[in-house]
Amino acid sequence: MLLSKFQIDLVDSELIRDKFAGTYILNSNNEVAIIEVSTSHAVPTILKRLEELNIPKESVKYLFITHIHLDHAGGAGTLLKELPRAKLVVQPSGAKHMVDPTKLILGANAVYGEEVVKKDYGVITPVDQSRIISCSDNQVFNIGGRELTTIFTPGHARHHISIYDSISNGIFTGDSFGLTYPELNIEGRRFYQPTTTPTAFEYDKMVESIDKMMAFNPKLLFFTHYGFSDSPKDVEYQIKKRLDDYVDLVKFNTENLELRLGQYYINECSNFGIKLSSENILKLFEIDIKLNSMGLILWKNR
Ligand SMILES: [Zn+2]
Repeated sequence: MLLSKFQIDLVDSELIRDKFAGTYILNSNNEVAIIEVSTSHAVPTILKRLEELNIPKESVKYLFITHIHLDHAGGAGTLLKELPRAKLVVQPSGAKHMVDPTKLILGANAVYGEEVVKKDYGVITPVDQSRIISCSDNQVFNIGGRELTTIFTPGHARHHISIYDSISNGIFTGDSFGLTYPELNIEGRRFYQPTTTPTAFEYDKMVESIDKMMAFNPKLLFFTHYGFSDSPKDVEYQIKKRLDDYVDLVKFNTENLELRLGQYYINECSNFGIKLSSENILKLFEIDIKLNSMGLILWKNR
């Protein structure tokens, strides 16, 4: 399998549903980097997977989070308690919120509602300042000869980073290059959509960041939500097109946006050849419809 050829392992966080969010484990000569944690609920699964891969906890050198939204970073503090040598690599403006997650939790409560945060997003453990590396753009991290380069990729969030891997010639894109759900797959071609989650979505920055990543000439893109693509150009085409479509949806008014965005996904999926019922498409995009609408309205009104 392609991932094992590059010593990359993908662990399903089982957040919300199967294959919605994941964690990547990268190995090189017995040094390990983990990219993304999801929530504290995923920590036992990640630890079990390390054990299955015969990776001692001491071998984990870095834990990268692409940004501090809870579906990527919520479990970071909990996981770091289990990994004695690992340092957390995070963009400087995200770092303080990992040390003191108060604002992060309040922000999540505002977006998802307190009940949902309590149920789905687990325990948020503060990270000790001494465990944090505030990275810079284009900083290279080495694990066993494998080079991982941070790329600042704002647009989804101001403090978003992506990570370029020298071995696979792939980029771990977090939420900066859209999402893809395994259910939306037709004859091997996958459907991709941008994510404009509140509160910091910026159209221009997202497009610039996509161009910046494409300048690395990646052969692979690894998505937190969920899986990978070996056709970055197809992903770029789909994401840029749908990003422009989103903008068209809010250009003249923001009324009934959730309804219109839902209908948009139904039409796009049908044009793509996906044979799911409208009801199932709306269910699959339930969170995206809500969050993307909120983010687009905030961006439009700014
Ligand atoms: Zn996310």
